[in-house]
Amino acid sequence: MSSVLDGRKIADKVLAEIKEEVAALPRPPGLAVVLIGRDPASRLYVKNKQKAAEQVGISCYVVRFPENVSIKRVKQEIAALNKASAIDGIILQLPFPSLSFPDAVPRPDPLCFLRLIDPAKDIDGLHPLNLGRLCSLKEAAPISISSDPNLPNLLVSPTAQAVMKLIRETGIDLAGKKAVVVSRSNLVGKPAALLLLLQDATVTVCHSKTLDLVRETSQADILVAAAGVPGLITKKHIKKGAIVIDVGINRVDDRLVGDVRFNEVKQKAGWITPVPGGVGPLTVAYLLGNVVRAFKLSRVAM
Ligand code: NAD
Repeated sequence: MSSVLDGRKIADKVLAEIKEEVAALPRPPGLAVVLIGRDPASRLYVKNKQKAAEQVGISCYVVRFPENVSIKRVKQEIAALNKASAIDGIILQLPFPSLSFPDAVPRPDPLCFLRLIDPAKDIDGLHPLNLGRLCSLKEAAPISISSDPNLPNLLVSPTAQAVMKLIRETGIDLAGKKAVVVSRSNLVGKPAALLLLLQDATVTVCHSKTLDLVRETSQADILVAAAGVPGLITKKHIKKGAIVIDVGINRVDDRLVGDVRFNEVKQKAGWITPVPGGVGPLTVAYLLGNVVRAFKLSRVAM
């Protein structure tokens, strides 16, 4: 029977640290969220970010566009936010609705917008420069909120930071342990795999074309599931006593479920995160941590 890692409780502690850091800054840091359309899930995520930002003293501005907004208008907005001195962090709420950008054929990839965001304000850590800098780190360095004035100049995916925080809570030393990440996405899988490598884990990255997922995951001391496939990970995918971090957030019959079948995996794993209440709240906390970090980095060259 495993211990459940309570993401909400840990997130409250992280948010308290961020609030202290914000109080010591010369002005409130500013977060801008670009939201296109009226998708209920996206609106809910934005509302949660806004609420958490207010709680720690970060000013949050939501820029709303109708579903049929043009590519030109969104690019103009990103350019304006890059220049705005009160804005330290910018997020594009993904996914974009299907009717957006009628002026663009073929339909643009989100990367075409993400690479326009100033890397110093890229708090999702999705700009190629930030991903490249993470890839180039030779040893573990403080990548999360920190009062260290010599922060390495990069911003890292808040979800990957959340995953690492939950793993740290177990107190297990990762050196030499086998970690399996089920995802190769830029938002979760790749940065989580890189952070695990920096902690000296032996890392395997699985994805939709992996031939035998059970064979890979059942050897993992640490399993990070982020495929976005409800119930993908069952008891047979798990090594007894493993740390299981469920990143997936999937809506099934109006309920949120993860990628891991919580009830059966809980019997076999050593530690497990619930959905909701695991990685999600910590992701929001580290997103705000990145706004503070971006504020600090803007005082040094990026
Ligand atoms: P994505 O579609 O970009 O990536 C999914 C990855 O999973 C891909 O690399 C794909 O190859 C892999 N995959 C898909 N099906 C698979 C299968 N059957 N077997 C093995 N690998 C498979 O998605 P994303 O944006 O990275 O998000 C993934 C999930 O994580 C979603 O459920 C999303 O809602 C959730 N998410 C949660 C948080 C959070 O804060 N908890 C943050 C970001 C994303």
